[in-house]
Amino acid sequence: MIRRFFTYYKPHKKLFIIDFSSAVIVALLELGFPLAVQWFIDDLLPDENWAMIVSVSAGLLAFYVTSTFLQYIVNYWGHMLGINIETDMRQQLFNHVQRQSFRFFDNTKTGHIMSRVTNDLMDIGELAHHGPEDLFIAVMTFFGAFGIMLTINVKLAIVSVVVMPFLVWLIAFCNVRMNKAWKKMYGEIANVNARVEDSVSGVRVVQSFTNEKFEIARFMKDNQTFRKAKLGAYKIMSYSSSGIYMMTRLITLLVLVYGAWLSFTGELTHGELVSFILYVNVLLKPIDKISALMELYPKGMAGFKRFTELIDTDPEVEDRKDAVEVSTLRGDIRFEDVSFSYDEHKSVLKDIDLSIRAGETVAFVGPSGAGKTTICSLIPRFYDVSNGSIKIDGIDLRDMTKQSLRSQIGIVQQDVFLFTGTIKENIGYGNLDASDEEIYEAARKAHLEDFIASLPFGYETQIGERGLKLSGGQKQRLAIARMFLKNPPILILDEATSALDTETERIIQAALTDLAKNRTTLVIAHRLATIRNADRIVVVTENGIAEEGSHDELIEKGGIFANLHKIQFQKA
Ligand code: ADP
Ligand code: MG
Repeated sequence: MIRRFFTYYKPHKKLFIIDFSSAVIVALLELGFPLAVQWFIDDLLPDENWAMIVSVSAGLLAFYVTSTFLQYIVNYWGHMLGINIETDMRQQLFNHVQRQSFRFFDNTKTGHIMSRVTNDLMDIGELAHHGPEDLFIAVMTFFGAFGIMLTINVKLAIVSVVVMPFLVWLIAFCNVRMNKAWKKMYGEIANVNARVEDSVSGVRVVQSFTNEKFEIARFMKDNQTFRKAKLGAYKIMSYSSSGIYMMTRLITLLVLVYGAWLSFTGELTHGELVSFILYVNVLLKPIDKISALMELYPKGMAGFKRFTELIDTDPEVEDRKDAVEVSTLRGDIRFEDVSFSYDEHKSVLKDIDLSIRAGETVAFVGPSGAGKTTICSLIPRFYDVSNGSIKIDGIDLRDMTKQSLRSQIGIVQQDVFLFTGTIKENIGYGNLDASDEEIYEAARKAHLEDFIASLPFGYETQIGERGLKLSGGQKQRLAIARMFLKNPPILILDEATSALDTETERIIQAALTDLAKNRTTLVIAHRLATIRNADRIVVVTENGIAEEGSHDELIEKGGIFANLHKIQFQKA
C-alpha cells in the first residue's frame, strides 16, 4: 500500500527533491545551533572579545536568513507537492468513475463518491507532503541530536533517553486506536454527504410531502453519529498529545536536575549544560512531529485505501483487447437466447430471441416491470448479457468498442436528464463538434424554434439545475433536438411521450416520427395509439416475449395485445 502511495510522487520528482533537500538542510542547521551557543558561552564570553562576538553574530544572521529562505521553500513547495499529488489523484478518480458501468452506479451512493473526491483526498494531499519528509527529518534530528549529546556527556545523554521507551509505547498504542477511529469517521462523513445529496436533490419531493421534519431528524441522526465518531478520534488524540507533553517535560526536568548536579561536580560546563537543554528540545521536537504524523498517517492512509478500492473496481463492461471500431452500422439487431439479471436473486430476461431488421420500427408493449427498458439497456451495452448474445449487423456487441457502439445509438427516455447551462449547450451535448447552424437546425426539427424565440435570452437562456425551469414537454423536445444532432442509425424511445398531455404528445410525436425516419427504431410505449404505425409490435410480459406481429395481426389474433387495445380503446 505504501509503495503504491509512492508511485504518485513520480511525476513530481523534482519538486520532491527540492523540498526534501531543503528540509534536510534546515534540520542540519537546527542541529548545529546549540553547539554554536555552547561555544559562545564557554569560549567567547570569558574572552570579552567584542569584535569576535559581532562577527559571530553576523554569521548567525546569515544562518537565520538561509534557514528562513529554506523554510519558505519547504512550506510552499512542499505543500505544492502535496496539492499536485492530490490533484492527480482526484483527476484519476473522476476519470475512473466516468468509465464505470451502470451496475456500479446502481449500487453506489453519489454522496460516497463525492466524499472520496473531496474530503479523503485532502488528507491524502497533506500526508503526501508531510509524510516522508517529516518522518525522515524526525529520525535524522533525533539520532543527530542524540549523537552530539553523547559526545558532550554520556551519562546525561543516557538519562535523557530513559523515558523514551514509554513514549514510543504510548505513540504506538494510540496509533492503533487512532487508525480505527479515523476509519470510522470517514465512513460517517461519507454517510453525511450521501444524505445531503439525497435530500437536496430530492428537496421538491420532500417539500411536497411536507417531510422536512423527517428529513431534518434523519440528517440529525447521521450528523450526530459523525460527531461522535470524530469526537472519539479527537479524544484519543488528546490523550496521546497530553501524554506526550507530560513525558517530554519530565525529560527536560530530569536533564535540568541531573545536569545541575554534574556541573557542581565539575563534569559539565555551563555552556555544555545550556547546549544540552537545547539539544533535549531538538531531540524532543521530532516527537511532536511523529505524533502529528501519527494523526496524519492513519487519516491519509484510510483515505488512500478508500481511494484504491474505488480505483481498483474495474468497469464491468469493458472493451476487449481486439474490439473493433464499428463505423456506420446499418442497424440489424439480433437477440440470440439472451438471459439477463440485475442480481443473482432474480432473473429479468430469460432466453429472449428477437430480430429487428435494419430500418424497421419495432414497438414494445407490456406490463410495467416486464423488462422492456432492460431489453433496451442491453443494446448499448449498459449491462452485459448473462447468457446468449446480442449482435448488430452480425457482430457481437462485446466485439465492438463501447465508444463506437454507443455513438450509433440514441436513447430518449421518459425522464430527460439535462445539465445546468444554456439551451444551446444542452442541445449541443448531442454532438460537441456541432456548429451553431446545426444546433438551430436540430431545434427546428424538434419543434423548439417558437419556444426558444419567445425567450428573452433565446438559445442562451439558462435552464436551471437539471433543466428545472423547463416544462416536461420542453425538456422532451430538447432531448429530441439533442438526438437530431447526434444522428444515430439506431434509436430507442423509451416511453418518451408517456409523461406528457395529449396535445404536447401530438407535437412531440410529429418530431419523433421525423427523427425515426431512416433509422432502426425501438419504441416502448404504453399509449397504444402512438405505435399504430410501427412495422411490428412485440408484447413483452414477465415470462418473456408473448406475442409478435403487426398491429392488425395482433388484433386479429385476439391475445394479450388485442385485450390491452380493447381496454385502452374503451377508456378513450
Ligand atoms: P419495464 O421497462 O418493462 O417496465 P424494466 O426493464 O425497467 O421493466 O424492469 C424489469 C425488472 O428489472 C423489474 O422487476 C425491475 O424491478 C428490475 N430492475 C430494473 N432496473 C433495475 C436495476 N437497475 N437494478 C435492479 N433491478 C432492476
Ligand atoms: Mg421501462
